[in-house]
Amino acid sequence: MKQSFYAKVKDFVKQHMYGILVSFCVVTLVFVLTITAISSLAKTPTLDEPSDEVVSPAVIVFTAPVQNGTIGMGYAEDELIYHKTLQQWQTHQAIDYLAPAGTEVVAAYDGEVLSVENTMLEGVIITIQHEQNLVTKYASLDETTAVKKGDKVTKGQVIGKVGTTAMNEVEEGPHVHFEVWLKDALVDPTNYLTDGKK
Ligand SMILES: [Zn+2]
Repeated sequence: MKQSFYAKVKDFVKQHMYGILVSFCVVTLVFVLTITAISSLAKTPTLDEPSDEVVSPAVIVFTAPVQNGTIGMGYAEDELIYHKTLQQWQTHQAIDYLAPAGTEVVAAYDGEVLSVENTMLEGVIITIQHEQNLVTKYASLDETTAVKKGDKVTKGQVIGKVGTTAMNEVEEGPHVHFEVWLKDALVDPTNYLTDGKK
């Protein structure tokens, strides 16, 4: 009796082995396909993302602080140029724009006025803070300035006039001594000017 029950079970398994295997395979296949479909759906948005694309900051292009000036002393960091006022050869980490006294001086770029000072050596100075850690400085201006500390200015906005107030460069005549600072270091303004006024 026992033997025959065992034989029956054995026969049943034998007879249905194929069906059992097929069912198992189908279930596994469906399961795998479902998982694949879900994971591929989940991945779709990531595929559309511009993978970690770095948003590069806007390229800053200055306008010359004096629109129709001529260049006096240019930028000289590694070489020495003759300094008429000091009567010696030295570096000059700025660009001097020569123009008649009273000629308008404009902001090189959008920014906020950091300070308006009247100093003995460099005369009347305006400094403007721009984005990307850039600061522009305009020295030897006329006493009549058009902006004050804290003012927001836009590129090309008149901030003052060409003067003769800088004692250290008085022999240059009326001009603006234009400096560009990047993270507290003087840099060549030419890097940011594209109008040929080097
Ligand atoms: Zn200068």
